[in-house]
Amino acid sequence: MYREDAGMERQRTIEKEIQFSGRGLQTGARSTVKCIPLEADAGICFRRIDCEDSPAICLKDSHASAAHGRRTVLGSGRTRVQTVEHLLAALWALGIDNIMVEIDSKELPALDGSALGFFKHLKEAGLRELPEARQVIKILEAEHIEENGRKLSIYPNDVFRISYLIDYNIASIGREEFDIILDQDSFVKEIAPARTFCLKREAFFLRILGLGRGATTDNTLIMGNKGPFRTNLRFPDEPVRHKILDLIGDLYVLGVPVIGRIVAEKSGHDLNAKLAEKLYKKYVSKL
Ligand SMILES: [Zn+2]
Repeated sequence: MYREDAGMERQRTIEKEIQFSGRGLQTGARSTVKCIPLEADAGICFRRIDCEDSPAICLKDSHASAAHGRRTVLGSGRTRVQTVEHLLAALWALGIDNIMVEIDSKELPALDGSALGFFKHLKEAGLRELPEARQVIKILEAEHIEENGRKLSIYPNDVFRISYLIDYNIASIGREEFDIILDQDSFVKEIAPARTFCLKREAFFLRILGLGRGATTDNTLIMGNKGPFRTNLRFPDEPVRHKILDLIGDLYVLGVPVIGRIVAEKSGHDLNAKLAEKLYKKYVSKL
């Protein structure tokens, strides 16, 4: 049995609709997002209202996520929604299992580059408990992914815990480690405010690749040798905390929370997506 009812915990949706707008981090395109409550067992869905027939992508129906360079993308072909990871991390933190996210563009707004804005908007919408029990994936055996000296493992554990190590060849980041037991409180205090980052020396090349068009010093830590460009760090180790934020969102593409201990070493969206794929095949597809 791979699926467990999480005790008395109930499924959740939001109380009322909310709407917010902003520019996407990668495309720079302005988008408006409307979040709508859904009934129990409907899951987390996205709808591209700017496309013909307004196609929907529901996480529970198909495992349709993939890493594309520096963001996580849902769907396929023209029906894609990208940079979903910060919103998904906020949904995870609030225990929201059912929601429709309508969007009129292909990329979620960056807001301030962290998960804080998404968390606040969703909280403002209010939460509604549904009668049906919530379901979770409890990890039963270890999984490992390793590629070019980068590692991502998950182990059975009673709580959701992440230990993360990054090591960048730049003085302002270098080696950072963070270890956290995650719940809503620890997420809001320690992880949600951590912003997206890139290295100043790669910023030019990202622009050439058509990425980071919406990146500004308000939503991205552009890290030079001495620190971020035109902003101050919110935490001395903000980059590693943001990597944890991305990992939480990248795993919530499964649509159900995972209970286990994760140990990550220089992971990124591509490795995170591979772990999500493994967990999908092993647990979610058998629900
Ligand atoms: Zn991110």
